Amino acid sequence: MIERSTPYPKLQSFRQQSVSSVLGRFWFFLLLVGGAGCGPLSLDSRELARAGGGDEGPRVLPVFQDDSAFELLEEPVPGDWRAGPGRSERPQSFLRYVAEDPVRSSEERNRIVLQLLGDFEKSDQALLESIREFVACSFSCRVDLAESLPLPQSNRRSRLWNRGVFQKSWVQHHTKTIMHEVLEPNLPEDAICCLGITQEDLYPDPQWEYVFGQAYLHRRVGVYSLARYFGKFWMMSETQSTRRRAHRRAMKVIGHEVGHMFSLAHCAYYRCIMNGSNSLEESDRLPLWFCPVCASKLVWNRGVDPRERYLGLERFFRDQGFEFEADWFARRVSDFKGPN
Ligand SMILES: [Zn+2]
Ligand SMILES: [Zn+2]
Repeated sequence: MIERSTPYPKLQSFRQQSVSSVLGRFWFFLLLVGGAGCGPLSLDSRELARAGGGDEGPRVLPVFQDDSAFELLEEPVPGDWRAGPGRSERPQSFLRYVAEDPVRSSEERNRIVLQLLGDFEKSDQALLESIREFVACSFSCRVDLAESLPLPQSNRRSRLWNRGVFQKSWVQHHTKTIMHEVLEPNLPEDAICCLGITQEDLYPDPQWEYVFGQAYLHRRVGVYSLARYFGKFWMMSETQSTRRRAHRRAMKVIGHEVGHMFSLAHCAYYRCIMNGSNSLEESDRLPLWFCPVCASKLVWNRGVDPRERYLGLERFFRDQGFEFEADWFARRVSDFKGPN
């Protein structure tokens, strides 16, 4: 199932099914060119990542200078985001981010709204509350779940799979119609940004198979689907382990989309929640945290204490029973030196 990639000059699109590529090395080429402009060609890849694509001046906030806990991105392989739809994306360094006048809070706008769309069951409440808290800890911000609004009737499309014993028909909803017809007109005055959450499947453009989510970098709205993480969509039974995996995926994608709404572009430096992803498999390789470059953007944007932020995330993951992430954040907390 090969799809044509579609450029979105202002819109960060996210996650479709596999895309063929002949430009698997292009991202690395871009990074090398960027690094060569501001230092010796002998910079190794870790130094290039710190250099954040070649801008002058400090590349990350001083508290994130030690990047030894973070993995550098490897060269993309065919099928990866950076070998497909993301191959021409320009790396967004910390300084470029600051210069781009990103979306920020103000006295009047001081909360993130998660706008439910369509039907939800009472049994969905625990997951919704968990992802709400994850966003609150990640972005150091008040986050509210807003009572559900109906999905728009226009630009829906029917889909059909017929693969032997696997037959399924369902409806997909158009991301931009949702954002323009529902989310923008209902954007609360005191919201920094608003992300729609739906259990329905989404598509961003007629040529695309689907997306998990999509968000504008500067229009303060985005939308995200929970549909494909759960066994029900694939007509498979759920186990505790698959529910856990779905929960992790749901947090990963909501963190990514809210990051876009704070004007963070896809990360081209480290393995990071802001990496573009072209499939569930690629998404599963990403962590639930922001790398030194992206964390610098967030901490600068929100004006928060990075240690307190890490502490909050450690507590959240410990409470939720995600020990791997809790331990990772605990190590970051202990890395901070000084009176704190
Ligand atoms: Zn994205
Ligand atoms: Zn990053």
